[in-house]
Amino acid sequence: MSNAASARIAMLDTPASAPATKDTAASAGPARPRVVIVGAGFGGLAAAKALAKAPVEVTLVDRRNYHLFQPLLYQVATAGLSPADIASPIRAIMRDQANAHVLMARVEGVDKETREVIASDRRIPYDYLILATGARHAYFGHDEWEGVAPGLKKIEDATAIRRRILLAFELAEGTEDEAERRRLLNFVIVGGGPTGVEMAGAIAELAKRALAKDFRKIDPRQTRVILVEAGPRVLATFPETLSAHARRSLERLGVEVMLGNAVTQCDEGGVVVAGTRIEARTVIWGAGVAASSAAKWIGAEKDRAGRIKVEADLSVPGHPEIFAIGDTALALGKDGKPVPGVAPAAKQMGWYAARLIAAKVAGQPFTRPFRYRDYGNLATIGRKAAVADFGWARMHGWPAWLLWGVAHIYFLIGFRNRLAVILNWTWAYFRFSGGVRLITDVKN
Ligand SMILES: Cc1cc2nc3c(=O)[nH]c(=O)nc-3n(C[C@H](O)[C@H](O)[C@H](O)COP(=O)(O)OP(=O)(O)OC[C@H]3O[C@@H](n4cnc5c(N)ncnc54)[C@H](O)[C@@H]3O)c2cc1C
Repeated sequence: MSNAASARIAMLDTPASAPATKDTAASAGPARPRVVIVGAGFGGLAAAKALAKAPVEVTLVDRRNYHLFQPLLYQVATAGLSPADIASPIRAIMRDQANAHVLMARVEGVDKETREVIASDRRIPYDYLILATGARHAYFGHDEWEGVAPGLKKIEDATAIRRRILLAFELAEGTEDEAERRRLLNFVIVGGGPTGVEMAGAIAELAKRALAKDFRKIDPRQTRVILVEAGPRVLATFPETLSAHARRSLERLGVEVMLGNAVTQCDEGGVVVAGTRIEARTVIWGAGVAASSAAKWIGAEKDRAGRIKVEADLSVPGHPEIFAIGDTALALGKDGKPVPGVAPAAKQMGWYAARLIAAKVAGQPFTRPFRYRDYGNLATIGRKAAVADFGWARMHGWPAWLLWGVAHIYFLIGFRNRLAVILNWTWAYFRFSGGVRLITDVKN
């Protein structure tokens, strides 16, 4: 788009129904094309950083003021790490990027006609728009289960789950009712994907090692951790041999793995699986994801999970100036299969969209389609086992766990976070301490 056109869009009146404020900070100075990126997760942040040297004004909008390293959320939920270990302020990350402006705002829509992003209290004009708003939990039509079976997506989810888990032990210590004590010490995890497997392994270790000597009336080692998976194996995206390794590792930790049956009921008292009721106070949901509302904002075609169906260059059909990336986009790989919803895919899409925009702004041709490069898949089971699949090589056990640890520390943003995680893990590894056992936000 020409500079004149950009200026015209910036001067369009705000429609009567829209809030009055108009964000002009990103368009101050000589009119450079404005790139608005919604979402500072893996995809959005990668795109913003990749535009550092491009002659554009970047506005990075997020409803939160921090970037979250979701792969380690389960460690916050199971008292292994603190929230600050896995989150970094977006402003601090973008501090040195002169062409970037960070805005904390919840986006609620997009006006494609005027080319403006509609946030809670303002409109943000764009020449190029990157939608990188990720995904949330899906309850397969049973949204009422969310209250009793929280999923793990945000820091608030992780601290709420941590509270639930730790409170269950406290209440079990305090009750005289044997049936209630058993219910309190039953933990059900729904979904045998990486999150479910990681949660199950970590809760089992917390109960059987870290908490083992902390109580007098109960024996936390009596805890039952039950992992329910509707499919025939855990970690279905891994090769069968690694799924089998993962299952054995879980069982060594004392986790009961129930395969081939879905949860058909979920309430305050527990769950029903294959017609059998399992009494449990703590049920954790790790079974499904749905994309953000971004498809609705732009009226785009979406798949069943709500992902925007994008072109081969990640643009939205009919809108070469709008891109959707990461978990909120449905991009197809060379094999015609959807690119998986993982952090490396979101980052690669962010880099790609940024390169394409930079080329367009420079008037250079850019016809190469997006190609996802799969560098491998990792999942951990407790403190000693993991599985790793690189296609050309497979690993399991302790070497895979070491690799998992190194990879996760390497990809954490910020020196302080890396150091904190290394220290926490080392301490926990040798002391079995389960260090961050704080029950916060208790209503007294
Ligand atoms: C518990 C868990 C464990 C995972 N483990 C792994 C793993 O081990 N390896 C791996 O590769 N992947 C893992 N993933 C998946 C990975 O985290 C996602 O694929 C990745 O985060 C997708 O990146 P994204 O940029 O699309 O979205 P996200 O990283 O989710 O970022 C979306 C951003 O958009 C913002 N946003 C959303 N809506 C709005 C709005 N309306 N207004 C403003 N801002 C908004 C959010 O605040 C967020 O910052 C895991 C995910 C979870 C939940």
